[in-house]
Amino acid sequence: MLPNNSTQKVCRMSTCEPKDWDIPVSYTAQNTFNPIRNVVETMHIEENPQLEVIRLTVGDPTVFGNLPPSEECFRALCDAIKSGKNNGYKPAYGCKEARNAVAKYSSTPEYIVDAEDFVLASGCSGAIEIAMNALVDRGDNILIPRPGFSLYKCICGSRGIEARSYKLFPENGWEVDLDDMASLIDERTKLIVVVNPSNPCGSVYKREHLEEILNIAEKYRVPVLCDEVYAHVTFGKEPFHSMGSLTKNVPVLVVGGIAKRFLVPGWRIGWIVIHDRNDSFGFKIRQALRRLCQVIVGPCSVIQAALPTILSDCPTQFFEKTLNLMKKTSNIFYESLSLLPELYPVRSQGAMYMLIGIKVDRLHSVKDDVDFTQKLMAEQSVFVLPATCFQCPNFFRVVLTCPVEVARVACERIAQFCRDHRKNALTNGHMEHENGIYHVNGY
Ligand SMILES: *Cc1c(COP(=O)(O)O)cnc(C)c1O
Repeated sequence: MLPNNSTQKVCRMSTCEPKDWDIPVSYTAQNTFNPIRNVVETMHIEENPQLEVIRLTVGDPTVFGNLPPSEECFRALCDAIKSGKNNGYKPAYGCKEARNAVAKYSSTPEYIVDAEDFVLASGCSGAIEIAMNALVDRGDNILIPRPGFSLYKCICGSRGIEARSYKLFPENGWEVDLDDMASLIDERTKLIVVVNPSNPCGSVYKREHLEEILNIAEKYRVPVLCDEVYAHVTFGKEPFHSMGSLTKNVPVLVVGGIAKRFLVPGWRIGWIVIHDRNDSFGFKIRQALRRLCQVIVGPCSVIQAALPTILSDCPTQFFEKTLNLMKKTSNIFYESLSLLPELYPVRSQGAMYMLIGIKVDRLHSVKDDVDFTQKLMAEQSVFVLPATCFQCPNFFRVVLTCPVEVARVACERIAQFCRDHRKNALTNGHMEHENGIYHVNGY
């Protein structure tokens, strides 16, 4: 005979009407969203059917098809598959050969990194998530740049972390407002995030500026997470300096990867370099980072096996080709859009982007950057990203990896859009503008 309670249970089940499924969405999922999606999904995006669309929105250098990965990288990946030796698991924080290779790649004359100072991750995104999970809890806060890369805010929302954004000065190469940064720090500030070279600003910080940021971190005893996924991706006068090499006393986690520089964002490998000169992170943080790698059991084994060859064999001409292209496109955007009194492009020196300010008060029928981008798409079929996505209203972002001709046509169409929306159309031929004389009739 069945025990009493069990009989009751069967009885209750059998007499009930079947209920509808009621599966709630988790708190985590509800609070996980990319701010870019949030803005773009609410936009009305429809092109002008008369004009072919130029898409300058996506931070993926493969979209135009003009920048294939290098032969050497491609071969390294094929060899890693063909060898048949990379079908199994590797250590969750990365195999020794791959970590050795990244150590060699990341070392500078100022500082030699060791293979034990690394964990590998699934893309730089995966590295950022692991670094944040190791140091920040629900209720804590982190400092992020504004304008800044949206993943940081996305992770914060997901995990109940407060994202406090510090100001950057566009007129000063997007340098950090150091007073603002310092004023945001309290006892629950666990991390200062710096992105250099910057997405979305295209800025490349001077050595002295990075040292000023380190001084603040040291004064308040807050570790730094420096996002260097665009390390060496510079085409201006400022060379790249790694925060990891510059730090003396501040514990720094540098995150990086091959997505952008090697033009293979789909290959999904990245890393965290632990810079800890005075053992401030100590063994516990190293161990925490390695433990967190066990959640996804590390990046793909095949790409780990290919990594040493990718990092050592990719020729300098390969990098130069991309940098030369971006130097040209950034000049085209800067030079031609500077001529428009409605826009103020901020010169870009690196990464793959440029931000352009919009003087909305000089345009009729344009409320803000979101409105500008929608109407630019509707009238001129040029799709750019409103910088509201990066908490920076009244700017828009363009990607610089497009072919030169595409950049030219995009600029012509943006200029036409500005002329079509120009307030108080001028008749006297030219008007004063910060960047010199703007010849209305010249267009
Ligand atoms: C693209 C990007 C990443 C992510 O790189 P993946 O290796 O593709 O995950 C991280 N940080 C910044 C600033 C980026 O622009």
